[in-house]
Amino acid sequence: MILDGQKVAIHMAGELDKRIKILKDGGIIPGLAIVLGGSSRPAAMYGAFLKKKAESYGISVTVIKKPDSVTEGELIKVIRSLNDNHAIHGILLLMPLPEGISSDNVVEAMDPYKDIDGLTAANRGRLAAGKPGFVPCTPRAVMAILEEYGIAVNGKKAVVLGRSNVVGLPVSLLLLQKHATVTICHSHTGDIAEISRTADILVSAVGKPGMVTADMVKRGAVVIDVGICRQNGKTVGDVETKEVAEKSSYITPVPGGVGAVTTSMMIQALVEAAEKRKNGGSHNE
Ligand code: NAP
Repeated sequence: MILDGQKVAIHMAGELDKRIKILKDGGIIPGLAIVLGGSSRPAAMYGAFLKKKAESYGISVTVIKKPDSVTEGELIKVIRSLNDNHAIHGILLLMPLPEGISSDNVVEAMDPYKDIDGLTAANRGRLAAGKPGFVPCTPRAVMAILEEYGIAVNGKKAVVLGRSNVVGLPVSLLLLQKHATVTICHSHTGDIAEISRTADILVSAVGKPGMVTADMVKRGAVVIDVGICRQNGKTVGDVETKEVAEKSSYITPVPGGVGAVTTSMMIQALVEAAEKRKNGGSHNE
């Protein structure tokens, strides 16, 4: 069965519209800042897509574009001025940044209450500690898809391929919080197929087309393909979808799977940030 990300996104849209209306009725227009540090074409395209999507919800979007010659100090200044700007509730810093700039240093300049993609050490620490905070949007999208389709996680064996701060590690923690038994594989893992074949839920977040083949998947497993790659002019994921679909019980397509829900999760996180500010408060409220 195909796990349709568009369906999940449509389901979320109604609720987001309602929450945004309540904010607007209270005089608050949710404000999103998208920061593009450098001339990466994929980042620029993604930024334009996000802007259009956010504006379709009536969100106010500010795009700040800096040339490749931008310095780390200048980017940090941009982030700090957005931190101080009351019209901005959430900041998205799009990667990659120009060579020589530490993305960690720029990310850490962000106010954790505006860090809607959960990249700062403060938010990552809160996730690890099981406390409320902003969690990266893609892992949240994975969990929303599992929930929408009523796929049980409790007691299941989950294998995650990839351990990045933005996908692999946080999705592993979210699965663990839902009581899965989680194994994380990465580029130093020996026999990945031997491990992946044990998975009831297999999440691939590597970024390598053809990485997951049918022989790596247990019959009846749920397969979530987070990868987004360009191959022969097409957008593909990590998973050989056609052959794996014959063995799996559920599978996400690429495109139209996790990516379709990630954008809605970003809008949801921005709305949460605006609601928290309205209530004058912290993540704990
Ligand atoms: P990343 O930072 O490059 O991380 C890739 C991870 O894969 C790393 O942990 C790496 O291991 C691991 N890896 C690399 N080669 C491997 C191999 N041969 N076997 C096992 N593990 C291997 O990438 P990312 O930001 O997490 O993104 C992963 C993919 O998801 C990309 O295709 C990206 O475009 C996509 N993505 C999709 C969405 C969405 O909304 N659908 C959002 C974000 C990202 P090491 O840690 O050992 O290097």
